[in-house]
Amino acid sequence: MTELMPPSLFSLTERLNAEGKEGYEQYAAIRRYIQFKAREQAVPVCGTFELTPLCNLSCKMCYVHLNEDQLKGRRLLDVDAWKSIFDQAIEAGLMYATLTGGECLTYPGFRELYLYLHARGIETTILSNGVLMTEEMTAFLAEHPPFGIQFTLYGVDDDEYERVTGRRVFGKVMAAFDRLKAADIPFSICITPNQYMRKEKELIRLLYEIGVPFSINSGLKTPREETGRPLLDAPPGCLRFPVPRGPGNGRPRSADCPG
Ligand code: SF4
Repeated sequence: MTELMPPSLFSLTERLNAEGKEGYEQYAAIRRYIQFKAREQAVPVCGTFELTPLCNLSCKMCYVHLNEDQLKGRRLLDVDAWKSIFDQAIEAGLMYATLTGGECLTYPGFRELYLYLHARGIETTILSNGVLMTEEMTAFLAEHPPFGIQFTLYGVDDDEYERVTGRRVFGKVMAAFDRLKAADIPFSICITPNQYMRKEKELIRLLYEIGVPFSINSGLKTPREETGRPLLDAPPGCLRFPVPRGPGNGRPRSADCPG
């Protein structure tokens, strides 16, 4: 791998130009180069920040979300504490941030923190379940575009959503996708197969109809102890989906789904 990496960013861009690579292709190659060099030098160039363990859904297979009772009186980090963490990370070399949870859009200071990263020039990706992607939030993001948004999709109708997440919010999530498309904000979709999602063919069909890049998690993570959820939802062979590649728009598939 090392010998394939050019010795400098300058030689990489020369090579990319000679190969006629431009636009997103050139950008992606440069980003890969930066991440490779950062790993070599132990620089934390990428960071994923769980702004809150709370979530507006309650997926049965989720490894991470807590409810208010499970917080046991502990409070979320406030905005100033997060800014201080971001400052430390940026000082150490952070360039690419991913905001997640729980559901990061439920965090009360989400917009302030997002704008803070934006103002500091950090490329920011949002992981979300889409329920709070309202008209207002869409307008906010249209004004301050993120590097990427990745949504989780938990079914093809309200019944399946209720079985997986406890809430009948399928229509809300689909409306959010429509709004983002209308606002020309790129996004991708991530699927976490589990035994409560039973309409896999319909789901694959739906993904193609939505027409954005998508990825499918290859397994489930063991829930953290404090969630009280055992890993009962991932029997061997749980991944029943074929794993096609989604239609590409040149944007990256981003980090793992929160759940
Ligand atoms: S999987 Fe994601 S959307 Fe579902 S409860 Fe967990 S954090 Fe929330």
